[in-house]
Amino acid sequence: MRVRKEALTIIACAGAAMLVLSGCSSARAGSTAASAAASVKETESTSAAAGAEADSVSAAAVTGAGSLADASSVTEPASGSSSAAESIPETAFPDEAEKPAGSAPESVQEEVPVLTPAPTPKPTPAAADVVTREPVRLDPAWLYADHSKINTGTATLYHARPSIAKGKTVCINAGHGTEGGSSVKTLCHPDGTPKVTGGTTEAGATEAVAVSSGMDFLDGTPEREVTVALALVVKDTLLKEGYDVLMIRESADIQLDNVARTVIANNRADCHIALHYDGTESDKGVFFFSVPSDSTYRSMEPVASHWMDHNRLGENIVKGIEAQGFHLFDGGSMEMDLTQTSYSTVPSIDLEVGDAASDHSGVLFPDLARGIAAGLNSFFLFPA
Ligand SMILES: [Zn+2]
Repeated sequence: MRVRKEALTIIACAGAAMLVLSGCSSARAGSTAASAAASVKETESTSAAAGAEADSVSAAAVTGAGSLADASSVTEPASGSSSAAESIPETAFPDEAEKPAGSAPESVQEEVPVLTPAPTPKPTPAAADVVTREPVRLDPAWLYADHSKINTGTATLYHARPSIAKGKTVCINAGHGTEGGSSVKTLCHPDGTPKVTGGTTEAGATEAVAVSSGMDFLDGTPEREVTVALALVVKDTLLKEGYDVLMIRESADIQLDNVARTVIANNRADCHIALHYDGTESDKGVFFFSVPSDSTYRSMEPVASHWMDHNRLGENIVKGIEAQGFHLFDGGSMEMDLTQTSYSTVPSIDLEVGDAASDHSGVLFPDLARGIAAGLNSFFLFPA
């Protein structure tokens, strides 16, 4: 297998704002959130046949809340997941919160004779078949957390509707999008050894930028704007498939470097998929960065214990995408020594879904998302 330096030609573009995209996203999500919240009550009283429609409604409602809320306003730490998770459905579905909990039993007692006590069970958020979300922060006690330099941001873990939940969490990591990330450096490998392949950072280096700013498409669109737009589509698709989804970034900026993103995924997800576009300009196809066949690298922990799982995840994902009609570049993989892979203790890939010349309008996102979902089903041995 070979390593191609041109694969990671990065055009620095730090400092550019991306108000347009996040503004559109928030506006769209906000407009659907109200109607979605109204429809949720309908879900509770209708039959299971309405499940498919309820799926999108619930996810949209949560998306709206997630996009509009400033992540920093969520104060509950990840370790307090129980209380934090309980508070979220009320935020996501204000209609539910407005229901006067005690009014129903009182009115029943007035109209019904004393012979019928009819205790009405109080509905709880856990009983509702809806998507819920939970803030997740980097826990400094987690393995390798001390290698992170930028880690004040909050990721969000979305729990699938209980009735369809698969019990697997997929971390979706929209590549780039950390202001100041390219002026800070972290160790390429947790043990301080040098990189074995060249890419954004040359082979032999022991440190790399904490988060690079990403490349620009031929029309000038920054990669980081496109990866987050794709990530939001993938999130909705995976939630409908019954996967829990850990979203690293859902807006223009998240203050989590590549080490922090990876450590969060290690501890709160069953696999980790980072979304990227390559810096080449040939629309060459889809591929993932596989683990280099370098004996030193493959014998270094945590790579030694996990590299086969990384490659198997990648192979399943690119096959799923290929089945959606996408062309694979060079069989779908290219060897690369990445910070993400070097710190991953769950199956983990950097997925390059195109390059600077590829269509990034969004029209291909649903197919890419379906391909990723199919690849995950295959990886986890779920029926197609
Ligand atoms: Zn990238």
